[in-house]
Amino acid sequence: MNYRKFKANYLFTGKNILDNKSVLITDDAGKIMDIVDESSAGNDLEVFNGILSPGFINAHCHLELSHLKGCIPEKTGLVNFVFKVVTERHFDQKEITDAIDKAEKEMLQCGIVAVGDICNNTLSLHQKENNILYYTNFIEVSGWHPDVAEARFEKSKLYYDEFVQKKQETFLVPHAPYSVSQNLWGKITPYFTQNVVSIHNQETFDEDEFFINGFGSLVEMYKIMKVDNSFYQPPKIRSLQTYFANFERAASVILVHNTFIQQQDLDYIKNIKSKNQLVSFCLCANANIYIENKLPPIGMLLQNECNIVIGTDSLASNYQLNILEELKTISVNFPGIPLEALLQWATINGAKALQNSDKLGSFEKGKQPGIVLIENVNGKKLTQHSAAKRIL
Ligand SMILES: [Zn+2]
Repeated sequence: MNYRKFKANYLFTGKNILDNKSVLITDDAGKIMDIVDESSAGNDLEVFNGILSPGFINAHCHLELSHLKGCIPEKTGLVNFVFKVVTERHFDQKEITDAIDKAEKEMLQCGIVAVGDICNNTLSLHQKENNILYYTNFIEVSGWHPDVAEARFEKSKLYYDEFVQKKQETFLVPHAPYSVSQNLWGKITPYFTQNVVSIHNQETFDEDEFFINGFGSLVEMYKIMKVDNSFYQPPKIRSLQTYFANFERAASVILVHNTFIQQQDLDYIKNIKSKNQLVSFCLCANANIYIENKLPPIGMLLQNECNIVIGTDSLASNYQLNILEELKTISVNFPGIPLEALLQWATINGAKALQNSDKLGSFEKGKQPGIVLIENVNGKKLTQHSAAKRIL
């Protein structure tokens, strides 16, 4: 068997950063054999300038929206954003699938190996069948008026069946607390058992307003989208408390955005989450800045020892699908967070959330997580010029 031996200024294992005396040994295909000291590594080392890391996990993306890059104006708020996404329909299928192909290439080149991808159609399926990246497909279900629950569920279920038939890892998930009726929750909850689920959570301030007081921009959104909201009686509790119990039987829950999450929400989750259930908090920093120009309370998530993971969201609300660019934005805004923690979020934490840490997320014997080189670093710190590329 042929071995390859990698050495750089630092080696991030998925858990910690080792110094430049550590050598990563893989087979030709990139399966991890060992990490040894340079003195016992022998010859033929491949030496790099920068930090070596396992491949990145993009825990939240919408590949099917890649053709909307640059179409939606920045910093106009979630309601305007959602309205634009659902009404921008003047694209032909070739344009959409070409954009998907291009976006996947971009993710591959900048070190992403696995993607939690939201799907509202099957346009990305063909690309995913090439098995270039690992995909966890989240077929999104939405429908606010209780009367549309049956039809919306059936539509999503058809997409779900198509993905499953093509042997893609696929789960049925709710879009957001404010877009799924109780009837619809009732239909999808049986699909959560022992599975991975994801939901857009507290992305806008008005989400909690909508559930506590029944007013705010979400009411306006339903008005302009001509969705009848007259049936709605606000339950007078915070958004998270209206739905989280539905995830009782899920093995892994990924809450996406969390821009307006509060300590009382984290306390609520701690109290009611099932034993052995992993709850992850996905940060999509560049999309948050693009849409709402506000970042989540990352310090609070850290203090509560939350499993933080990283997503790019879609090219409709981001200029690139690049995990290192997300880490750079976070480290500029939260300079106290050590690089070791940021890289854990981008690798092993995401792999655990998507339940593929048996093969991805760290340099542990037997895994094949991909090897990424992060260049233009300043010691153990990212700089504005830092860039990541896949080297194996
Ligand atoms: Zn999203």
